[in-house]
Amino acid sequence: MRTKSSDKKNINVVTLGCSKNLYDSEVLMGQLKANKKNVVHQEDGEADIVVINTCGFIGDAKEESIDTILHYIDQKEAGLLEKVFVTGCLSERYKPDLEKEIPNVDQYFGTHDLPNLLKVLGADYKKELVGERLTTTPKHYAYLKISEGCDRSCSFCAIPLIRGKNVSQPIEKLVLEAKKLAADGVKELILIAQDLTYYGLDIYGKRRLADLLKELVKIEGIEWIRLHYAYPTGFPLDVLAVMQTEKKMCNYLDIPLQHINSNILKSMRRGHNRAVTEKLLTDFRAAIPDMAIRTTLIVGYPGETQEKFDELKDWVQKSKFDRLGVFAYSHEEDTHAEKLEDTVSDKEKQNRVAQIMEIQSAISLELNQQKVGKVFQCIFDRQEGDYYIGRTQYDSPDVDNEILVNAANHFINLGKFINIEITEATEFDLFGVPVTA
Ligand code: SF4
Repeated sequence: MRTKSSDKKNINVVTLGCSKNLYDSEVLMGQLKANKKNVVHQEDGEADIVVINTCGFIGDAKEESIDTILHYIDQKEAGLLEKVFVTGCLSERYKPDLEKEIPNVDQYFGTHDLPNLLKVLGADYKKELVGERLTTTPKHYAYLKISEGCDRSCSFCAIPLIRGKNVSQPIEKLVLEAKKLAADGVKELILIAQDLTYYGLDIYGKRRLADLLKELVKIEGIEWIRLHYAYPTGFPLDVLAVMQTEKKMCNYLDIPLQHINSNILKSMRRGHNRAVTEKLLTDFRAAIPDMAIRTTLIVGYPGETQEKFDELKDWVQKSKFDRLGVFAYSHEEDTHAEKLEDTVSDKEKQNRVAQIMEIQSAISLELNQQKVGKVFQCIFDRQEGDYYIGRTQYDSPDVDNEILVNAANHFINLGKFINIEITEATEFDLFGVPVTA
């Protein structure tokens, strides 16, 4: 076995799950770097130590996390690794079980355990670094986590059990963090939280997302601000006013709606019904006609009869969301819905996921074809094979449409804004050429 002094050991941080987990990994990596540790992200190569930041949201994600842990335990037993540490949501939620079932992990940590994790990695927690992290995204965009935890009690969701109550970060701290990101070349800020629209209620006694946005748009260098994980109930309409007046605000909103049948929404403890949901979407479209609305749905929830599912399909067909993701319901321990009978079979759940995605693919193709011949301001994230891959203000990284420009015929500066004329469209991709002034 190779042994090196602790300062020379290579630490590989592996992130699973959502952008909020990625943010936490970046904070961990920032702390390690400041402690002069050799740290990389998702690079097995020369690693001596691996820290796995797990996801514990639903069945499939938990399985992926366990498979990843077992993968690195195999490497350790093969002498390719010295230590394996596990943190994140799965570890927070199932630590005692994991310690019993996979004892070869050197240590398990919760989601609020950073100082202890740093200690076993031979590093000290540096409070003065708060707001600083080692970003892993392309230099021109970064996530900004404005709060952690959630005060809601959606019946199917284990996140409040894992991440605790909503804790908003003060506006001043977030502005400082965003200014540092801008100074490092970030042009696009992607705001994330468990429930973005709840921002401020805990520390200011009122919703202050709009106030935060008004400060962030003032930051020089930031050109695009994007909103993810909004919540329908109590949606702060003053946010729409900021989106209408501030050109740095992307005409984009990610708002998981989960379902449309009022009985299902009631059972889900969502606090909104069909009428409220439809009114909100009408308000969005009235305020910003070209807003790209992304939503997420759950199919196969307990009690989702064929009739209720047909209602959901019909609504998806009519609503023509720009972007839509769909999950099969996962019966999660300790959630409110766990008490309900899981009435829809796994096979039927997957069948319903496929039906919704089939409808959405056709809608996405139709909407994309309407973009052919039009010119959009884009930013390019990477080159992949023969193509440069970019996005418009209507597309968030990793989850939405991509703009493809043939690299054989054109040169594109990654991370720079450029106008692209769309020449061809498929369900989830648009092809285009740079527009020369
Ligand atoms: S808003 Fe609902 S679904 Fe989202 S994290 Fe909170 S409890 Fe879970």
